[in-house]
Amino acid sequence: MKPNEIDLHKELKKYFGFNQFKGLQEQVVNSIIYGNNSFVIMPTGGGKSLCYQLPALVQEGTAIVVSPLIALMKNQVDAIRGLSSEAGIAHVLNSSLTKTEINQVKSDITSGLTKLLYVAPESLTKEEYIQFLKGVKLSFVAIDEAHCISEWGHDFRPEYRNLRNIIKQLGDIPIIGLTATATPKVQEDILKNLDMPNANTFKASFNRANLYYEVKPKTKNIESDIIRFIKQHKGKSGVIYCLSRKKVEEIAHLLQVNGISAVPYHAGLDAKTRARHQDMFLMEDVDVVVATIAFGMGIDKPDVRFVIHHDIPKSLESYYQETGRAGRDGGEGHCLAYYSYKDIEKLEKFMAGKPIAEQEIGYALLQEVVAYAETSMSRRKYLLHYFGEEFDSETGDGADMDDNVRNPKKKVEAKNQVELLLKVVKETRE
Ligand code: ADP
Ligand code: MG
Repeated sequence: MKPNEIDLHKELKKYFGFNQFKGLQEQVVNSIIYGNNSFVIMPTGGGKSLCYQLPALVQEGTAIVVSPLIALMKNQVDAIRGLSSEAGIAHVLNSSLTKTEINQVKSDITSGLTKLLYVAPESLTKEEYIQFLKGVKLSFVAIDEAHCISEWGHDFRPEYRNLRNIIKQLGDIPIIGLTATATPKVQEDILKNLDMPNANTFKASFNRANLYYEVKPKTKNIESDIIRFIKQHKGKSGVIYCLSRKKVEEIAHLLQVNGISAVPYHAGLDAKTRARHQDMFLMEDVDVVVATIAFGMGIDKPDVRFVIHHDIPKSLESYYQETGRAGRDGGEGHCLAYYSYKDIEKLEKFMAGKPIAEQEIGYALLQEVVAYAETSMSRRKYLLHYFGEEFDSETGDGADMDDNVRNPKKKVEAKNQVELLLKVVKETRE
């Protein structure tokens, strides 16, 4: 079918059961079915998958979807198979397949049955697969989590750097990159690396108007402060992020002895315990998960009412992602972070052993965290500005939803801060 003959709303309903596109989805889908290189920047939960799944389903040929996480690929393939009577409509190609399974995948692609082929970037480098894919009809290549291309992203993966070369070998096919990382630097890197300077770019707003942002100085009272906060939110779901596994265990224990139902979650726990704790949280058998950053990937609990950062994260992207797990349902979401410069120094120490280039990027990202934590301006404005988005702190959505706006620092105080800063600058210069 020609692109202009496709009734997208009908196909949307038929495959996904949805009546309406969300946000920019329809524009993106159109861009892809007309064969354009496209670049999609939408926050987590924005509905990026559909942007490439729908065009793949309605077009001839197979779309290749590159994704970094095997578990997520499997979930997506299962979901797509649920939309169709043909299991072969979607496949994963990875190193765990047997010879027989690989042959099945190949024959489903060759016969035109397979619309979506999920691959990990390292599998795509295999010569055998490249040779095979060269000989079949491909509709486009979607690169999910495209920020993995950039060293400025929070999840750099060197294999992603090779993708452009491999795709070139496969022929002249459109590319679509998708990410939830909105910093202009990462975006630039992605477009450059994929060599698609003229890609149609679609960027959704990153403003989460229902989240309240608050940063408090970290003092020795932090523990009683956290306990008080949670008791004020009795029966509500929340996540507390800590930097180390040890701290996670400590805080989880502290909460438990204070009568708060909480479980720890970190990569040091065995898989069974982790899964159990996650389920307990999702099923509301416990109110609070105390976790390292290992917790959260793909977690979709709509009614998380608070996210506390016991330790400030290493970048504003991480902060945005982690706080973003609050208030998915549009209801209240309180994001409270504790900040002390000592924690920044700790994070700097972690970077000390890394390659210089990586260290430099790490420091630059940390400086942004410091500036955010110490600012007296609208935190929302600051965050959105970091993501390249203008925000009107008087009239924008959620304008009064942060500590700085609700309780502006008094003039005197602010003035003292400036004087203090000038003094420090002067002293360091001397
Ligand atoms: P992202 O990859 O951007 O984080 P997903 O693709 O995982 O987001 O989609 C997030 C959720 O939004 C999913 O539960 C999906 O089913 C839902 N969704 C996507 N598009 C629509 C739509 N047009 N109408 C209703 N729900 C949608
Ligand atoms: Mg996604």
